[in-house]
Amino acid sequence: MRLKLVLNLALLFAALSSYGSGLADSVRQNYPVLVNIPGFITLKCDFHLHTVFSDGHVWPSFRVREAERDGLDAISLTEHFDYEGYPEDLKRDGNRSYEIATESAKKTNVLIVKGLEISPRVSPYHHNALFVKDPNKLKYDYMKTIHKQFVMKDSIKRAELMSPFLEVKDQGAFVFYNHPGYSWWDKKDRNIFTDFHQELLDKKILGGVEVVNSGKYNVIGHDMAIKHNLTMIANSDEHYDISNSYKNTHRPMTLVLAREKSVESIQEAMIARRTIVYYDDILIGRKTELEPFFRSAVTVSSEYKKRNEENILVITFQNNTDIPFKLKLSSKYMIEGFPMGRVTVNAKEKVNVILKAVWDSPSATDLQCRVENLFTGVNEDLSTVITLKPL
Ligand SMILES: [Zn+2]
Ligand SMILES: [Zn+2]
Repeated sequence: MRLKLVLNLALLFAALSSYGSGLADSVRQNYPVLVNIPGFITLKCDFHLHTVFSDGHVWPSFRVREAERDGLDAISLTEHFDYEGYPEDLKRDGNRSYEIATESAKKTNVLIVKGLEISPRVSPYHHNALFVKDPNKLKYDYMKTIHKQFVMKDSIKRAELMSPFLEVKDQGAFVFYNHPGYSWWDKKDRNIFTDFHQELLDKKILGGVEVVNSGKYNVIGHDMAIKHNLTMIANSDEHYDISNSYKNTHRPMTLVLAREKSVESIQEAMIARRTIVYYDDILIGRKTELEPFFRSAVTVSSEYKKRNEENILVITFQNNTDIPFKLKLSSKYMIEGFPMGRVTVNAKEKVNVILKAVWDSPSATDLQCRVENLFTGVNEDLSTVITLKPL
């Protein structure tokens, strides 16, 4: 009896460890290593995903598996609450996708945020609501049919469009504007931030906007985030198998700078706008987040050396992340070997930069640094001053 138990345990252990190494293999290509900033942890999140419970093509547990493989901390399955893709096969229930994902996430480190997408084809267009309580309480009176197609009524009342927003507000949700300016929207409506959006803002319903959706940068979203002081968000909006959409890069994600890893902490951080948009090798955010993130990501040290009879200052940049950083440096001294002070510090790499002819050997000197792949504005990259205190 005992021998059998030991054997079973050994088998279980073997199965678990082979599962673990299989996971590590698939994880390797698509698992960006990032850093925390003082006081916060960086959570990798994707808050816009679909499954068969709306117009997606995969089962909720598959989204959890993908998130685990991609090293994500949190996802939200934001089904269009006003659309049913498979009414003959799946009973309409706005909570079901979340329930299945939550059950399957128990074995993982992935948090599931309860969310949904409100998807009218007229202003105010698509929005996601996160941290909702019961999607089944929302009314979609602006739709003519929600069965396998989005068909809206011919004449829609503003109150019908406002109704789901008021409901999610009552449920304590965080709402953000999805992919502003999406191509199928009413071409006559040139005002993408309409009076409806202003009303959502005034009612304290609208809190954020997608700056990246489906791997693409949205300049309208970025501009809107700055103009209206909204939380910046990046999502995949994936409807199919995500590994197929991001073969050469990681999926777009929102980095949430949270006090701890919990759904409540994510909500607090999103309301406080502590996010960074991350796609390809680009980070977009506010200087308050990007500057400390860059400082944690790249450690800088410096040391005086003698080269023949010349005084030089050797600056070492150590990149602690998987994000390559493109720097443009300037100093009152000459920078050797990097025209225009352009230096790329690749993922996990160490780069030495030499300041020449530092005859006066100051105890401290400022290095002006622009980070050309970190954006604090639509036309502005991160600018930071590194004070060198050489050994
Ligand atoms: Zn969709
Ligand atoms: Zn959408």
